[in-house]
Amino acid sequence: MTQELETGLYIFILAGFLGYHVISRVPPLLHTPLMSATNAMSGISLIGSMVVAGAGHSALSTVFGFIAVSCSSTNVVGGFLITDRMLKMFKSERDQASQAATLFRGREAQVVLAGLVVLLLGGVLWFQDLRERFGHLDLSQALKFSYILSAALFILGLKGLSSPKYARKGMFLAEFGMVMAVVGTLFHPAIVTYRWIFLGLIIGSIVGGGMGLWIPMTAVPQRTALSHSLGALAATLIGISEYIRHAGDLGRVLMTAIGAEVVIGGLTFTGSLMAAGKLQGLLPGAPITYRGQNASNIGLLAMMVGSLIYLIFMPATAPLFYLMVCLALLFGFLLVVPIGAADMPVVISLLNSYAGLADAAMGFVLMNKIQIITGSLDGTSGLLLSILMCRAMNRSAMNVLFGAFGKIEKEEAGPAAEAKGSVRSIAPDEVVVLFDSARSVIIVPGYGMAVAQAQHGVSELARVLMKRGMDVKYAIHPVAGRMPGHMNVLLAEANVPYDQLYAMEQINPYFAAADIALVVGANDVTNPAAKNNKNSPLYGMPILEVDRAKSIIVLKRSMRPGFAGVDNELYYNPKCMMLFGDAKDSLNRLFATLKS
Ligand code: NAP
Repeated sequence: MTQELETGLYIFILAGFLGYHVISRVPPLLHTPLMSATNAMSGISLIGSMVVAGAGHSALSTVFGFIAVSCSSTNVVGGFLITDRMLKMFKSERDQASQAATLFRGREAQVVLAGLVVLLLGGVLWFQDLRERFGHLDLSQALKFSYILSAALFILGLKGLSSPKYARKGMFLAEFGMVMAVVGTLFHPAIVTYRWIFLGLIIGSIVGGGMGLWIPMTAVPQRTALSHSLGALAATLIGISEYIRHAGDLGRVLMTAIGAEVVIGGLTFTGSLMAAGKLQGLLPGAPITYRGQNASNIGLLAMMVGSLIYLIFMPATAPLFYLMVCLALLFGFLLVVPIGAADMPVVISLLNSYAGLADAAMGFVLMNKIQIITGSLDGTSGLLLSILMCRAMNRSAMNVLFGAFGKIEKEEAGPAAEAKGSVRSIAPDEVVVLFDSARSVIIVPGYGMAVAQAQHGVSELARVLMKRGMDVKYAIHPVAGRMPGHMNVLLAEANVPYDQLYAMEQINPYFAAADIALVVGANDVTNPAAKNNKNSPLYGMPILEVDRAKSIIVLKRSMRPGFAGVDNELYYNPKCMMLFGDAKDSLNRLFATLKS
């Protein structure tokens, strides 16, 4: 083992532990921004890609490097912009009163982006000249310092996400760290030409900027999946290009790192593309299963691992290397095919983790320590979020990956669906009468609120009720909706101050004293069967204890079940009343009645 590899491994492990420590302190409120922030930071693969694109080893490596620069810079620019857009929405009641929390106002972000592109264009002309004048100076020490400082700034950036108060400031530090690393890399001694680097940066900034500024909040999961696939593509291409470059003298260590990079990168690329397609509705969302699926996937995995082991000892077997890359691409595709669209958030988090590992492997190939650090941080973040999501759903990662959930659960839902009884429906004017006599309301948003885009209506109703002197709180289940922190982002978008959002453990003790629990498009996260019915697939999942409120009003369109496909016992509770209809329409009808 070389000294450099040993140091790299130490860094990888320590960064993982540090990442775990910092990221586990990020509250569920900020889990969605965390996902896009780590995604942006994993775009640090940009610096390795820049070196490959600019080193001029061969035409193929320059082309691969150029594509990798475009993909990575798309992730950096898009990731940071969308994180900032989200964080800007999180305001406390005090911030809202003073309107002081915005650093960027109006369309300033667009102006910054346009400025960045102009700067890059100018940079092409200026930098060639600068290198000619100062090319004789050894700037390698300055480069190392810029990387060390960037790594520290990334960790501080993640630390900032432990509170919505400091999150934006933290992200500015991380952005600054990224700029430092990129600018520092421009002075990398291996770079001999800048043409392809700048072209890639310009393309990435335009594509990433467009995605970051204009993609709606509801499309954040698919954007995240898409950027994982871009990051993984960058890692795979750089891995292939390095394999070709070192064809004559591939040591075991380098071959292991390249193998890990292309295998993890390849499967993450196709897996993430599939996930994005399912979430966007371009591909069928239902799990696609066939006989012997798990066995054939395991066989494929064994073939990939076998090829890698063979290559470590016989690295010159090029056809086997390319076969291994193809197997990895196929494996990623087959891994995601049997997973339903609703489970994609867990898959995305896992793929986030894989993308981080591919990035770290690229760091080992190029012996670039900052890539090892960010790869490790990204890997830890993705893994931690997946574990938290699985825990909140009371499911194992194995069940998510190999259980074809949705299909199986619906078949098993029979015993749980026996909890029948009579259901009471209610009209908007009766709801208003209930509001008239109530002092406290707990609003429980769920996936249906996102579907109906009813978050603005919900926040407006809450404002009206508060004006009438009522105490209003929001109850946020960690897996309400379809991605971690989904409800928090939507409600923040609708200007709900984050101090009114209560996590499940905080709000549950309040339900017994609440006059009304107003459930807006939430279903599974309120199902008492999770506590009472051992036959229910939901049994053991922690839920919002809505059934303890004095009255329960549920806004949904029908008696259809939610994601888990099981009947909700709550609807047969004598205290429960159903206001049927699209959540947005129902809220509009409520307003109209309140006004009249
Ligand atoms: P849910 O159980 O999926 O229920 C959503 C309800 O919204 C449905 O019953 C549906 O009933 C209603 N709805 C849909 N469109 C509506 C509209 N336009 N207006 C009014 N209601 C509408 O949602 P949840 O309670 O939020 O629970 C989330 C589920 O997703 C959990 O089972 C969780 O494990 C799973 N999950 C979450 C994540 C995550 O990260 N958040 C990840 C993976 C899985 P109607 O059709 O009758 O209207």
